[in-house]
Amino acid sequence: MDWADELAASVSGPQVVNDSKTPSGTVHVGSLRGPVILDVIVRALRANGTPTTYLYGVDDMDPMDAQALLTPDAVERYMGVPLAHVPDQEADGHASYARHHAEAFIETFAGLGIRPDRYYWMSDIYPTGDVDPYIRLALDRADVIRDIYRRVANVRHPDTWHPLSVVCENCGRVGTTIVTKWDGERVYYECRADLVTWARGCGHSGWVSPFRGAAKLPWNVEWAAQWSLFGVTIEPCGKDLSTAGGSRERSDAIAREVFEREPPINVAYEFLNIGGRKMSTSKGRGAAAHEIVDVVPPEQIRFLFLRQRPNQVIEFDPEGTDAVPRLFDEFDRFADATAGRDVRGDLPPGFDRVFAYSLLSPDADAEAEAAAFRPAFGHLALLVQSPGVDLRQRIEAEKGSPLTPRELEILETRAAAARAWLDAYAPESARIVVRREAVPSEAGDLHADQRRFLAKLADRVASAAPTSGDDWQTLIFDIARAEDVPPRRAFEAIYLAFLARPNGPRAGWLLASLDASFVRERAWEASGWTAAGPPARLPVGG
Ligand SMILES: [Zn+2]
Ligand SMILES: [Zn+2]
Repeated sequence: MDWADELAASVSGPQVVNDSKTPSGTVHVGSLRGPVILDVIVRALRANGTPTTYLYGVDDMDPMDAQALLTPDAVERYMGVPLAHVPDQEADGHASYARHHAEAFIETFAGLGIRPDRYYWMSDIYPTGDVDPYIRLALDRADVIRDIYRRVANVRHPDTWHPLSVVCENCGRVGTTIVTKWDGERVYYECRADLVTWARGCGHSGWVSPFRGAAKLPWNVEWAAQWSLFGVTIEPCGKDLSTAGGSRERSDAIAREVFEREPPINVAYEFLNIGGRKMSTSKGRGAAAHEIVDVVPPEQIRFLFLRQRPNQVIEFDPEGTDAVPRLFDEFDRFADATAGRDVRGDLPPGFDRVFAYSLLSPDADAEAEAAAFRPAFGHLALLVQSPGVDLRQRIEAEKGSPLTPRELEILETRAAAARAWLDAYAPESARIVVRREAVPSEAGDLHADQRRFLAKLADRVASAAPTSGDDWQTLIFDIARAEDVPPRRAFEAIYLAFLARPNGPRAGWLLASLDASFVRERAWEASGWTAAGPPARLPVGG
């Protein structure tokens, strides 16, 4: 996390960190990357002793521009109307469409430990008159803004174009109006039927004062106005907006040339790609933030966004893959390394900061958290499928001592996540049915070396059964090596004897999720061995 700490160390004086979002439609999980990055910057600044204000804007004066988000009867009336003036499309008590959708993302942020000092709503800000000085400047310098659009983005507006959208006094639309004259106090606007393809203006025109909420600035200008209005010093934004000629460059130029202020420091961040395939089809699940947040706990979501630097693309495809278990394993590896335990593989520089910033609370004791006992997710995913298992007892046996209250909390969170993952995303191979009643007929195909492996396994378990998944895994490898059985064939023997199939989840965890006495009896029975040794003649197939 060197980048956030370096940024925090490079600035001086109080900082204002800002981002904003249009409250339209469902929040895609990828759009959580910005807020997490923003939150970490704030934490890094505060850890560095910098007085920091964290603002988050709701751009709810933006026009409704997607038909699919409206009920059919509302399309004609509300396309092009500010989101703050569109009624809630669900009868659940919100004052507007914008409030409904903003509340959803505010709740999602809060669940991830992201709590801006203040949310501001543009529909509240405009009527106060606070934006009026910037509206005046933008209109006075309309030629400069037209030139910026031409120069930076190669967008040519006619000489009569002014950077303002009036809320039509007749139809209430803001997306369909164009201002063509400005006399220093009033603007002349037209509500055009064909200004945009997605909404139809009513044809009204006239002179009106543009102040106190009667009009809004276009997005690039509004963005720069927010920086001046709130004194924003740092604002990260997505790579898509940060390209040459893109929105950020336009707003930066407007800030400098129109509002005469240096734009905030940008931290451009890349996308999170969800495996495009079948995300919205197979189980009716999409990449909606709330769906993934329902399965993956907040600290692992934060970690998902933080384990890679902002300029790296994140690939995350939970559907039918082991992406979620791997995310937990990687989190645990960072925790282990932070706690000073040995880990396999390389770690990025600043791994301990990544771990600390992944924690839900900015005040968490990262060292104590890193030292806490965390059962492996894959192991829990098996345990929660095994009937009659006392999770706590099993995990305490693995740990070798009672769980602390915090460790118990971690266990409960993870067990719930494992159940949710099995329900929502897990591949078929992760779902297991242990054949408890009898040795499955599939085990009849076991070869002599596999039977020998199972018999030795039963022997060893009888003398001293491992408790943890890792210890079981080690035992399997030890016996396989001693008996000269390739590990792949040893695992296959276990899967056939217990699951009636040739593959399955990590064998050590599978056996750790079962009673040792059952493992011993089943391994022995499936081996076909007797006290006298191996079976004289193998059954058919052996
Ligand atoms: Zn609602
Ligand atoms: Zn109109």
